[in-house]
Amino acid sequence: MKKYLLSLFALVITFPVYATDPITVYSARKEHLIKPLFDAYTEKTGVKIQYITDKAGPLLARIKAEGRNTPADLFMTVDAGNLWQAAEEGVLAVTDSKLLETNIPVHLRDPENRWFGLSVRARTIVYSTERIKDGELTTYEDLADAKWKGRLCLRTSKKVYNQSLVAMLIARHGEERTEQLVKGWVANLATAPFSNDTKTMEAIAAGQCDVGIVNTYYFGRLKKKKPEIKLALFWPNQDSTGVHVNISGAGVTKHAKNRNAATKLLEWLSSPEAQEKFAGLNMEYPVNPAVEADDVVKAWGEFKSDDLNVSSAGAMQATAIKLMDRAGYR
Ligand code: FE
Repeated sequence: MKKYLLSLFALVITFPVYATDPITVYSARKEHLIKPLFDAYTEKTGVKIQYITDKAGPLLARIKAEGRNTPADLFMTVDAGNLWQAAEEGVLAVTDSKLLETNIPVHLRDPENRWFGLSVRARTIVYSTERIKDGELTTYEDLADAKWKGRLCLRTSKKVYNQSLVAMLIARHGEERTEQLVKGWVANLATAPFSNDTKTMEAIAAGQCDVGIVNTYYFGRLKKKKPEIKLALFWPNQDSTGVHVNISGAGVTKHAKNRNAATKLLEWLSSPEAQEKFAGLNMEYPVNPAVEADDVVKAWGEFKSDDLNVSSAGAMQATAIKLMDRAGYR
């Protein structure tokens, strides 16, 4: 008996079932949005996933400070501006993967393959269904027109979402036109910018203003809490550049100890199997075009989105911040 146990033990040592070390993820995407995915992956593959969550800035600083010794294999965050920044600061490795190229449209990943979009967030116009008439809304640019004076509410320019929106406008229109546009928005503000998208929408519902610009999942959350709220989404720029979209995404770190396993996890997250859940948990859009959005999200209607590479959100970010400051957007 003793001998049998011993040989069994030797067998386990020689042929371990779960040979792979755990993958370590540093995530600025919140725990409740990633844990169900990670649990499903572990159940499927036996590969364990460790993670810490924090804001993008502190996580990036930590990876940099840890240098070669970082336990992080994968850096996950929201906003292309943040992913671009991570790549710019040299903490992400190039990941060449046919699967990632197939699953993720080219404008939603880094042209140099250091980060990849995993969900799409649309930043669109939200309006009061009581005070906006059909045909009144058209484009982001139109919100700079004097006819919107005292009717516009915006979130603060300090939020990366708005920095990315303005950065993409700069990429489209150039600095001069974008500055005029942002000045127009500021001139039309009903009140000082809000600290978040939900407050912006609540101000519209309360009659403080009539229109605003928000990420659609915040609209989804508010609608879920207050189904009677008299707000709706509008898809602007359908005859021109399309709706501004951004991503949440991830990249394998430069000093990853478990590079192959991290790449496999990234590939799986882009697969149809994971995509519905990854986007659906936050009422976002799947990045993989083969996967449909969940029913709540689908009910908001189809739209054309901007197909400019989201890396512009990063490349133009510093320019956008300065421009918004000059335009008096606080
Ligand atoms: Fe958000």
